[in-house]
Amino acid sequence: MASNVGAREIVQAWGRILTGYRPNISIEITRECPLRCPGCYAYGDDHLGGGVTLRGLADYKGDELVQRFMALVDRHHPLHVSIVGGEPLVRFRELGQILPQLEERQIHTQVVTSAVRQIPREWAAFPRLQMVVSIDGLQPEHDARRTPATYERILKHIEGHKITVHCTVTRQQVRREGYLGEFAEFWSRRDEIRKIWFSLFTPQHGTECVERLTPEDRISVVNQLAKLRRVYPKIYMPEVVLQGYLNPPASPEECVFSKTTECVSADLVTQITPCQFGGEPVCTECGCIASAGLACFSKYKIAGVLPVSSIFEFSQRIGEFSRRIEQRVGAMSAAAN
Ligand code: SF4
Ligand code: SF4
Repeated sequence: MASNVGAREIVQAWGRILTGYRPNISIEITRECPLRCPGCYAYGDDHLGGGVTLRGLADYKGDELVQRFMALVDRHHPLHVSIVGGEPLVRFRELGQILPQLEERQIHTQVVTSAVRQIPREWAAFPRLQMVVSIDGLQPEHDARRTPATYERILKHIEGHKITVHCTVTRQQVRREGYLGEFAEFWSRRDEIRKIWFSLFTPQHGTECVERLTPEDRISVVNQLAKLRRVYPKIYMPEVVLQGYLNPPASPEECVFSKTTECVSADLVTQITPCQFGGEPVCTECGCIASAGLACFSKYKIAGVLPVSSIFEFSQRIGEFSRRIEQRVGAMSAAAN
């Protein structure tokens, strides 16, 4: 997901791409979640491409999870790890061992949670950890969708932390005047909140749902957010993201975020494609904040001529080529030994 990325991180990410690796990895650490949110993509029938679903996948616990998780990270050596679920806090004991190891490796980490249980206080000491709490609108709507992770519990469970609030904007929210402003006002007032993110609901092909935004809704959200970010500075909504929401990638092939992020499910093997949503997301209606930021960035032209996307594709091809060579050399020396 989006964060304040500096020049050093961009150079490091480019380095990873040139050596055939993706700079980001998103890992569904468990198949379990005590919530049953309507419209949850992780538990959709097609999330893992049909056949097996997240609930049907084997997952791990205890030391075995810690070892397998770290082995996966070490194989990919990413710059950024996003830990999602299911509900990651179901595995808070294992995370208590994993997070210090990620910190030691200087990896920026994000844990995306419903805050259905207490976030361990000691995690607040990790400088590279970002806790992101998903909150689906104001209390009445949120509690109806996300019990038992109610407002009351969230407020208790985030005490002692500095978290990022993440709200996925739906049609219902856009159509109630002042809704997003009330949301921003409520969460901005709290000391525990460092940032507020708004992403937009991303539908799947072949499904109709009440959350889906029309093109007019999308324009309305962008206009509202452009005003709200000035009133509530905790809202993280750079212009590039707003522009990205208005011009999403046409397909996964054009999505820089999808191409730079490896997504792995709870057995720590199964890949989620084309991006963290899995299934067949409608890219032209994508509302992912990270994808939106990178989409706009990739359209910039260096010296007014060469689009960043062309350099990116070229770099990726070089990376794939050098990684293939590296694998061949590795296989040849293994055979020679
Ligand atoms: S908390 Fe997340 S993983 Fe669990 S049901 Fe809700 S949306 Fe799905
Ligand atoms: S849905 Fe969004 S994040 Fe996923 S591949 Fe399409 S554009 Fe990228």
